[in-house]
Amino acid sequence: RELPGDPRTDTMPREVLHACYTKVLPSAEVDKPQLVAWSESVADLLDLDPKEFERPDFPLLFSGASPLVGAVPYAQCYGGHQFGMWAGQLGDGRAITLGEVINSKSQRWELQLKGAGKTPYSRFADGLAVLRSSIREFLCSEAMHSLGIPTTRALCLVTTGKFVTRDMFYDGNPKDEPGAIVCRVSQSFLRFGSYQIHASRGKEDLGIVRALADYAIKHHFPHIENMDKSESLSFSTGDEDHSVVDLTSNKYAAWAVEVAERTASLVASWQGVGFTHGVLNTDNMSILGLTIDYGPFGFLDAFDPSYTPNTTDLPGRRYCFANQPDIGLWNIAQFATTLSAAQLIDDKEANYAMERYGTKFMDEYQAIMTRKLGLPKYNKQLISKLLNNMAVDKVDYTNFFRLLSNIRADPSIPEEELLIPLKAVLLDIGKERKEAWIGWVKSYIEELAASGISDEERKASMNAVNPKYILRNYLCQSAIDAAEQGDFGEVRRLLKVVERPFDEQPGMEKNARLPPAWAYRPGGMRIP
Ligand code: AMP
Ligand code: MG
Ligand code: MG
Repeated sequence: RELPGDPRTDTMPREVLHACYTKVLPSAEVDKPQLVAWSESVADLLDLDPKEFERPDFPLLFSGASPLVGAVPYAQCYGGHQFGMWAGQLGDGRAITLGEVINSKSQRWELQLKGAGKTPYSRFADGLAVLRSSIREFLCSEAMHSLGIPTTRALCLVTTGKFVTRDMFYDGNPKDEPGAIVCRVSQSFLRFGSYQIHASRGKEDLGIVRALADYAIKHHFPHIENMDKSESLSFSTGDEDHSVVDLTSNKYAAWAVEVAERTASLVASWQGVGFTHGVLNTDNMSILGLTIDYGPFGFLDAFDPSYTPNTTDLPGRRYCFANQPDIGLWNIAQFATTLSAAQLIDDKEANYAMERYGTKFMDEYQAIMTRKLGLPKYNKQLISKLLNNMAVDKVDYTNFFRLLSNIRADPSIPEEELLIPLKAVLLDIGKERKEAWIGWVKSYIEELAASGISDEERKASMNAVNPKYILRNYLCQSAIDAAEQGDFGEVRRLLKVVERPFDEQPGMEKNARLPPAWAYRPGGMRIP
């Protein structure tokens, strides 16, 4: 019998009103669960001894089958705009937080099992996750962190030993797939949608928006809580009347601005490595500015601004690579509207947060692209010409920048030798396109030569920002295929490779190759 309020059984799908979470215990069935992989650096964050992963009961604990001592598991309530439309209550439909660990550095880390069974937020779905998508989330969380991009982390990945039915090609032919559970780790999993849901429910719940904002500021933005109020932090806005916003007079305004700025830097860093999130709904936007919810994400192989890894995003391509900066702003606008509705910020402050998103994004994006090219200063024309050329010739976004560091800043290099360092990425280009590239390399060399930075120094600094190894879709797919056959070695090996994206890693070059032909065949790649 389902008893409302009993965390052992209370998973009846429903609107959860006037509350931020529901206590609910993991309930995914398991049958000899197995540890697929784990992250040493996340274990380190949690002060977890590597020996713990050898415990025979480890897979039971991290599949949720055995309770963790001291845990008070719960699922969060949130809402969100999906593809631009208000979708109402969503919530943790398959993620269950076990609790928080405070480490030796006094940092608070939340541990969450994704795929651990139904919650009141599961709606029509089963609360479970399959091995395929869990491997993608596990590997990409750690790959993004190693690229220096803010993200939720992944401690470990276990199989449940049970099968889950999925219709992955949406072709009406469901298939049984191995079930799995990722233990995600973050300082907070609060999203824009965590605030939106309460504001959407009217006046009565606006106090919850405020309480949850107070909570976030106190625990995750303590510098705002402790802001020196005697020194005013005033900014004139870009409005026609140049009105002034004072961030010390309203902590919620200072918070909105910081969320906007963190989101802007996050999106800029995605553009830098060619990461396309694929589902930038407001429920997938972290208030800490972290990459959150790895679903049908994809890294660009060939540069294509209209690339979207999400098959449900076609033909509109709302979440395609080139749209991410605008979508970030759209999402920030929803967040600011929510805080305005709760009367935490006024219109001027809301507009100012959006303005700061735009400024921060441009600053960061320009800085990132400047570093990627190893330029002494930002050069708009050179960069946009390059991106245009890359799009026309479908040039690999990762390997191109890595090879670009081999160009010597020597204006006397004869024309016919200029493209030699880029040979491996300028494939099948005709005479006319070759000329376009020679023209670009010439102006690039001119710019470099004027800077006076040595070739060696530039190469080292470029290679520190242009990864050699990213989690290409086809690599991920190969690791999934092996894991589904019971061989977890590939997942572990790939984790090691993507943990050192900027290192040459002799012997590992295979993992920096362009996608093989099978990756382009229908059914070759199984995403999301
Ligand atoms: P997403 O598009 O991944 O952000 O998910 C949107 C919503 O669907 C969230 O509330 C998820 O928790 C929920 N959801 C996704 N997959 C499942 C599942 N298998 N079972 C229950 N809820 C799910
Ligand atoms: Mg989500
Ligand atoms: Mg998801």
